[in-house]
Amino acid sequence: MNLNEYLNKIQGSKGFLIIISGPSGVGKGTVIKRLMEACPNLSRCVTCTTRAPRPGEVEGVDYCFLTAEQFRQMVEAGRFLEYAHVHLNYYGTPLASVEKIVNRGEGCILEIDVQGGIEAKKRAPDAVMIFLAPPSMEELERRLRGRGTESASAVAKRLANAQKELDCIPGYDYLVVNDNIDEAAHKIECIILAERARIKRYE
Ligand code: ADP
Ligand code: 5GP
Repeated sequence: MNLNEYLNKIQGSKGFLIIISGPSGVGKGTVIKRLMEACPNLSRCVTCTTRAPRPGEVEGVDYCFLTAEQFRQMVEAGRFLEYAHVHLNYYGTPLASVEKIVNRGEGCILEIDVQGGIEAKKRAPDAVMIFLAPPSMEELERRLRGRGTESASAVAKRLANAQKELDCIPGYDYLVVNDNIDEAAHKIECIILAERARIKRYE
């Protein structure tokens, strides 16, 4: 290809998936919010869940909140890129939402659990997989309890799942420790910039 052909490809290129996983309470939501404030060309895909909304969560912004029956119908209609049973509820990524973002040429941020991340990567091999880890297990517990959004039993369930999630780190491309919110968001921004510049994305 000559230079103009490359430049045209860059102009017209599609976006790609950026999968961000990590244990509950590690700070995924917080870091992603900071990242989105700093970066144009990124959209977070709103996913679906059968879990009840937490105080302050907004339908269509934080999640699409579905009944178990509505969720089942979407599974049967093949409308999820992936779905998984996580901490007692179902969660799934609607294919149509991902396609809309990617077709606009934007990076599509998917904040999903490790099972979903690995499933999505199979269907979208050019996805970039980032694992967000806590600086320590004690700090993870402090953050989860400090958030105050889950019952004691739900916190215990989420902490018990954390170790299994950490076991999935080798399936990811990048490991970012969320010690400081700004630094973690900046590292993810750098990863996305580098991934966007990969030549294989234009070939
Ligand atoms: P997740 O989306 O991974 O479940 P949240 O973004 O809800 O986690 O963060 C869990 C709690 O930890 C929140 O109270 C948030 O303010 C806090 N938190 C997030 N990142 C940090 C950090 N780097 N240092 C201290 N507290 C943090
Ligand atoms: P929470 O209930 O704390 O909002 O989310 C619980 C877990 O479900 C988090 O690890 C979050 O990343 C994950 N999650 C949210 N949406 C999806 C999704 O569409 N698919 C999968 N597999 N996990 C999701």
